[in-house]
Amino acid sequence: MIFDYIIVGQGLAGTSLAWQLIKRGKKLVIIDSGEERTSSKTGAGLVNPFTGPKMVKTWKADVLFPYAEMFYRELEDVTGVQFFERRIIYRPFGSVEELNDWHGKGGQDNYKKFICAIRDSNYYGDYVYDPYGGVALYGYVLDMPLFIQSMKNYFLDNSRYLEELFDEKLLEIHSDDKVRYKEMEARKIIFCTGHHITNSRYFGWLPVSGLKGELLSIKMDTKFKTIFNKSGFIIPRGNGIFIAGSTYSRDDVSTDVTDRAKNEICLKLDSLIKLSYKIVGQKAGVRPVITTRRPVAGPHPEHPALWVFNGLGTKGVSLGPYFSHQLAGRLENDNNPDEEIDIKKYYSLYYESQLSR
Ligand SMILES: Cc1cc2nc3c(=O)[nH]c(=O)nc-3n(C[C@H](O)[C@H](O)[C@H](O)COP(=O)(O)OP(=O)(O)OC[C@H]3O[C@@H](n4cnc5c(N)ncnc54)[C@H](O)[C@@H]3O)c2cc1C
Repeated sequence: MIFDYIIVGQGLAGTSLAWQLIKRGKKLVIIDSGEERTSSKTGAGLVNPFTGPKMVKTWKADVLFPYAEMFYRELEDVTGVQFFERRIIYRPFGSVEELNDWHGKGGQDNYKKFICAIRDSNYYGDYVYDPYGGVALYGYVLDMPLFIQSMKNYFLDNSRYLEELFDEKLLEIHSDDKVRYKEMEARKIIFCTGHHITNSRYFGWLPVSGLKGELLSIKMDTKFKTIFNKSGFIIPRGNGIFIAGSTYSRDDVSTDVTDRAKNEICLKLDSLIKLSYKIVGQKAGVRPVITTRRPVAGPHPEHPALWVFNGLGTKGVSLGPYFSHQLAGRLENDNNPDEEIDIKKYYSLYYESQLSR
């Protein structure tokens, strides 16, 4: 079988890139191991315009967010499944100073469009602790497991999906524009393998590492649609089920759930919400992160037929759509790479790794 592209991995990275290339009329196959506990099948799906304890504006939010909305809406139309929603994200303030600070920020142009309202004290007092009020932000939530499953079904229906573990040892590189894997031949192969990239013989030198995260599913006898977010978050999923998270661990990159994470999330929840809850589930996944917090994309320094798209970190839902669009253009030679995500800035690491072998 002859393809334009082979994509390894059907997480957010592989899925979004596959769609961009399909839209360009390219013939491709996705090979995915079918692993159950991936980052994309675990993630909470939040798209938040301001993040971290200091509520810093998300990098490129003005470009990434509208693009992501268009992208997921288009795929909802294609699959006939609804997985993407606009939601208010409410963040209670921790002090009067924070309240005053946000009143100031609310007037600035680059903040305004993401702020729905600055709320007075106890606006959501039936649900959360907000004695100093809080800020209601325009955000989104993607049901990540549903998105990945719906797209897998779409790829299967269109004969573009193969469920098996890709074995790099069987990859033959014939030229700068031809690879062969078993009975498949393609112009390029793109590795979108998340944190598994660390074990790759071709891309293991990239500075991607695993950042484990765990989430709880909880049941509560209440109804609200707003997402509450402070040091932890709670996302209503419907039918009394809510997703609560999250944790960040570099010590253990297994996908086993732990009591330590459960207790950490409960502590965060107890300082955020006033309601009682029952834990009904727990899951873990490993995010592929780079310390610069930017994704990475582009060709291997010595094998131009081998490409990578990785490092979506903690923000894959908003980064995946826009940067897959850019990468598809680059693969098809009709745009230049964004320097911030270009793999070329890491090439020196590759040459160093070759010297030390
Ligand atoms: C607890 C948690 C909460 C999160 N919350 C959010 C959030 O609220 N918002 C947000 O934007 N992001 C969130 N994320 C981050 C988000 O999940 C990641 O940015 C994103 O999923 C990474 O996608 P990926 O495709 O690069 O990797 P992955 O999802 O890991 O996908 C890689 C795929 O490659 C496949 N694969 C790997 N090796 C092989 C091989 N050899 N052969 C075949 N297949 C292979 C795997 O099976 C997998 O399907 C969260 C992550 C976690 C863990």
